[in-house]
Amino acid sequence: MKKTDTQNNVMEEIISLAKRRGFIFQGSEIYGGLAGTWDYAPLGVALKNNIKNLWWKRFVSDREDMYGMDAAILMNQNVWKASGHVDTFADPLVEDLKTSRRYRADHLLEAAGIDPKGMKLADMDAAIKKHGIKSPDGHPVGEVRHFKMMFKTHVGAIEDDAAISYLRPETAQGMFVNFKNIVDTFHPKLPFGMAQIGKAFRNEIAPRDFTFRTREFEQMEIEYFVAPSDWEKIFEHFRQQVHAFTDDIGLPNTKVHELEVADEDRAHYSKRTIDFEFDYPFGKKELYGLAYRTDFDLKAHADKSTVDLSYFDEEAKTRFVPHCIEPSFGVDRTVLAVLTDAYTEDSMAGEKRVFLKFKPSVAPVKVAVFPLLKNKPDLVAKAREVYNQIRKVIPQTMFDDNGNIGKRYRRQDEIGTPLCVTVDFDTIEQGTGVTVRDRDTGVQQRVPLENLIAYLSDKLN
Ligand code: ATP
Repeated sequence: MKKTDTQNNVMEEIISLAKRRGFIFQGSEIYGGLAGTWDYAPLGVALKNNIKNLWWKRFVSDREDMYGMDAAILMNQNVWKASGHVDTFADPLVEDLKTSRRYRADHLLEAAGIDPKGMKLADMDAAIKKHGIKSPDGHPVGEVRHFKMMFKTHVGAIEDDAAISYLRPETAQGMFVNFKNIVDTFHPKLPFGMAQIGKAFRNEIAPRDFTFRTREFEQMEIEYFVAPSDWEKIFEHFRQQVHAFTDDIGLPNTKVHELEVADEDRAHYSKRTIDFEFDYPFGKKELYGLAYRTDFDLKAHADKSTVDLSYFDEEAKTRFVPHCIEPSFGVDRTVLAVLTDAYTEDSMAGEKRVFLKFKPSVAPVKVAVFPLLKNKPDLVAKAREVYNQIRKVIPQTMFDDNGNIGKRYRRQDEIGTPLCVTVDFDTIEQGTGVTVRDRDTGVQQRVPLENLIAYLSDKLN
């Protein structure tokens, strides 16, 4: 589908705000950038960490059945041979015959209003020919072929085939290959899961839509091992948990949609997949995936490594290879969903205003503390004292004395700070507390200092 001007404009506004306010910068910008890479700046890091911490809390620390991991990115090449990625991890590619620019064949079909779901390479090729589909520059395109998406490298000083390795295209395999280690060290009973957050790399043919489709990104993944007869029950549990997590981070459930992936469109390892799609400004696109990976991975690694990866059920006295349910969450797509959903334009006191309506749980700054004037040492000292007290309880608090108060409000609105605290002359002279301003309504409330922390904490919950 073609994007409308309004959708493009909203994305441009968001990208520009993300840069202006220090959320996300273009990767390697001073050298003209590197396609498909983005650098997270201080506020982007804070937002991303809040999201990752909420995920870790829900899926790891609040549960007794989950084992946290942080496996190496580089792995033995046999991992990727066994998992099927070396042979099959590829996207359909076409080349513009004039400019040699490369495009995803399925994306060109979609843009022309043809649904590519379920199509094999030959079907895409036939559809492109039949409908005379051209490249976005209006030139004819060549044959559709497979393009391998893993970044290949050599480990060590000798560049021979034995030294080949890949930057991992998913974090999942780092957990499958450690399944036996977890069983041997922690002796967990089924069902149990392994979870990790980490970078993944895919040489996407056409990175686009800001941080939506990049070549280096982060994933939060769970491999949850179950007895084969339990998979449907656990699949349903995680289906609901995905929605619970989108609630944690403040995404409205009206914008999160489930798509049951058809047989012919599922990854080679999956017997059932639900994609969770989100209404981004550029369309409804995949945010997360939930897959029933069966015993595909453990069996494949047991075969290739010749290490036994079965599990012995003490009660039933049976030995079997567990099946696996995998909820997979993209961090960068989450950050983008949260940013685009929070982006709000309204008018306040007769002026146009832009603000990020973050749920407090994800806001990179929760409270900003100001002295009314920056050139009055008494005010500044009192404001610093209040700031230090708040910070002990609410760590994501910042001190701000740049520019006048109106400018500070605008800046804090643009970075989505839910509450601003101002220390004024009455704070010192009359002992009447401080004003607390609410980001969404602009309403200011006088709050006595002794109640301040309780008041702020209550508002942020
Ligand atoms: P798509 O169809 O959009 O390419 P996918 O189905 O290949 O995605 P998965 O293999 O299921 O994606 O990866 C799990 C999650 O990792 C996705 O739901 C998404 O959140 C994230 N992800 C995958 N590819 C990218 C990418 N290129 N950039 C950013 N995030 C990604």
